[in-house]
Amino acid sequence: MIFDILTIFPDLLESPLNESIIRRAREKQQVQISITNIRDFALDKHSMTDDRPFGGGEGMVMKPEPLTAALDSVKKEAVKERVILLSPQGRQYNQKIAEEFSREEHLILVCGRYEGVDERFRAASVDDEISIGDYILTGGELAAMVIIDSVTRLLPGVLGCADSAEKDTFSRHLLKHPQYTRPRVFAGEEIPEVLLSGNHGNIEQSRFLESVKRTMDRRPDLLAKVLFTKTEIKLLKKQQLWKDIQVLQQVQ
Ligand code: SAM
Repeated sequence: MIFDILTIFPDLLESPLNESIIRRAREKQQVQISITNIRDFALDKHSMTDDRPFGGGEGMVMKPEPLTAALDSVKKEAVKERVILLSPQGRQYNQKIAEEFSREEHLILVCGRYEGVDERFRAASVDDEISIGDYILTGGELAAMVIIDSVTRLLPGVLGCADSAEKDTFSRHLLKHPQYTRPRVFAGEEIPEVLLSGNHGNIEQSRFLESVKRTMDRRPDLLAKVLFTKTEIKLLKKQQLWKDIQVLQQVQ
């Protein structure tokens, strides 16, 4: 998977791209990540990448020519790219979109600044606009980093444990169950007995129930999307949770 980031603040991304899992994935060539400074493609002697908005008003707008030239410079002949503009006006990012992006060959992430980018660049060159939430950032760099981080960990072989991404929160619209590590007793609190039983069937069942209860409590909106198996429904009925789940599924 290839990522290209177009930005006027390349240094902002250096540290998060060179630590931990992302660094290892780059070293193992599981991802190739390059940063391009849009300023290098400015046309005038002052390297201007923004200008005042036509029609007046506040702030500055990113000029279309440096953006287009920077974009053209990272396109690759034999690889199909998807150009993503980070924007609070885009569709809201979630795990499903991360999965969708993880199947792409080449993602080009365009980071806006100031009041945003010239509309003609957006219309001519952008495939997808993505927002990471209903709030305004000073620029698209952190949003680009959110996409790179969440997509990279889904790529084959990137996470140490093969199935750890599959069991994450959101992978099947259920929040992950509570987790515990050593010590067995902390501040007077014992871990649940079942986790010491060595009985994997019972542990899985207990984790599943905790996961469902947590989702009912914190994110009932997710329940409408969960497809429970027949065995799970039987278990939920036995625990007297099924009726409440059905009510919550209908409310959403
Ligand atoms: N004036 C713009 C508006 O109201 O839509 C906001 C511009 S914002 C200050 C500057 C840049 O930050 C945007 O062009 C975008 O690239 C990025 N940005 C801000 N909030 C974002 C969000 N929630 N998700 C993704 N990118 C965001």
